[in-house]
Amino acid sequence: MRKGRTFVVSGPSGVGKSTVLKALLESRKNLYFSVSATTRDPRPGELDGIHYHFMDVESFRKWIAMDQFLEYAEYVGNFYGTPKKFVDDAMEDVILDIEIQGAIQVCSKRPDTVRIFIAPPSWAELERRLTERGTDSPEKIQKRLLRAKVEFQTAHTYDYFVINDTVENAVGELNAIITAEHCKPQERMEIISGR
Ligand code: ADP
Ligand code: 5GP
Repeated sequence: MRKGRTFVVSGPSGVGKSTVLKALLESRKNLYFSVSATTRDPRPGELDGIHYHFMDVESFRKWIAMDQFLEYAEYVGNFYGTPKKFVDDAMEDVILDIEIQGAIQVCSKRPDTVRIFIAPPSWAELERRLTERGTDSPEKIQKRLLRAKVEFQTAHTYDYFVINDTVENAVGELNAIITAEHCKPQERMEIISGR
């Protein structure tokens, strides 16, 4: 049976990835979010098993030893990883919100992964969003902004580049990308020849 596609979304912290993906998932059927594991503390409103699988460093290391991650990376002092089973077993489209080191690992293991970079309309707006979110100390915000500049240098290696000026525009572009990927001849011709 045909399996779903894997979509990876990367972009600077605070650009709006979670916000946009939440709206995208509400707007689109047959698309599922890959819930990552992380060693960072939950933010207000974040639920275990919904936004992340929150775990301590010892448990995270056990998962690594048991080869349970499709990819994992360290990001600004914490570990983040994608549970392998969910992505491997998915029969529908799956979308991953992961940073650039993880995106490289996923693509080397699954070359047909579609990579989407989400950028802010400006650096000033990114800083404003990170500050307004109110979840990180000024020091952490500066670390995340520094990391954002490094991440931006890799944007040209992605398949698509979406600017999150408004959530509505970004969701519209993401929906268009996913739809376009399903209109590629290889997939369409497989469907017809299977009938
Ligand atoms: P990320 O998941 O990329 O770290 P978030 O989804 O947490 O980012 O968004 C960071 C902040 O920016 C949040 O306060 C969110 O409400 C806000 N935000 C997200 N998208 C937009 C947008 N298009 N315009 C204005 N604010 C936004
Ligand atoms: P945050 O702490 O803001 O939720 O996430 C910080 C960064 O970690 C973001 O760039 C996000 O995309 C990334 N991230 C979240 N989950 C994963 C994951 O499973 N693997 C990797 N490599 N990065 C992740």
